Amino acid sequence: MTRYPLIGIPSAALEPSPVPGARYYRMNGNYSAALAAAGAIPVAIPLELPVHLLHALLDRLDGLCLAGGDDVDPARYGEAPHPALGQVDPLRDETEIVLARRALATGRPILAICRGIQLLNVAAGGSLYQDIPAQLPAASRHAFKLAEVGWAYQAHRVRLAAGSRLAAILGSDELWTNSFHHQSVKQPGDGLLPVAWAEDGVIEGIEAADHRFAIGVQWHPEGAFRSDPFSQRLFAAFVEASRPEG
Ligand code: MN
Repeated sequence: MTRYPLIGIPSAALEPSPVPGARYYRMNGNYSAALAAAGAIPVAIPLELPVHLLHALLDRLDGLCLAGGDDVDPARYGEAPHPALGQVDPLRDETEIVLARRALATGRPILAICRGIQLLNVAAGGSLYQDIPAQLPAASRHAFKLAEVGWAYQAHRVRLAAGSRLAAILGSDELWTNSFHHQSVKQPGDGLLPVAWAEDGVIEGIEAADHRFAIGVQWHPEGAFRSDPFSQRLFAAFVEASRPEG
């Protein structure tokens, strides 16, 4: 009998709330669709749960998917906000940092995408460039407008570290990716290794060497999974690593 791994996706706060006196949460359905297509059961995780319940929840999940979204509050890595910092979601930061640390500590597989790679890095004690154009002026363009180019747009080349888990999964040492981000990994977090870079040196992928599966990518495989084989391979490898035994 096939056992479908249960993959949690933390939600985001919907501000302003459409209903006075009630907080609403939202989720981008491309993530759940990509996980379902790869053979997992995706479940949305609400915000504002107490830490002990987040820990208990994570222990009953087979994997954690950290999705794209707002900027991580720079207070989480000890910096004051840069003027070019975007929207933040402190409730989501709180939920995701608790879950990411628990998953790193317990060996639960993690796939972290866009904001997710940034969140994973911060959860492990790393830092971010708050705005690539302002802080890395020599970098090429990374903040393409989705409405103008679409998910399948190949914005830049990404080079992968030889021998990395990510290169093995993708079956290549380079690929072209989309790019819809204005922040990126600066100082890698404890135990996390940069394994993918754009040609301008911007970090596009990290992984934990001593973990069952903890991989972050700065591009958006969930936006391109319906047609892009690299995106399909990444989700397939994550779901396979999350599959419960027996
Ligand atoms: Mn990029």
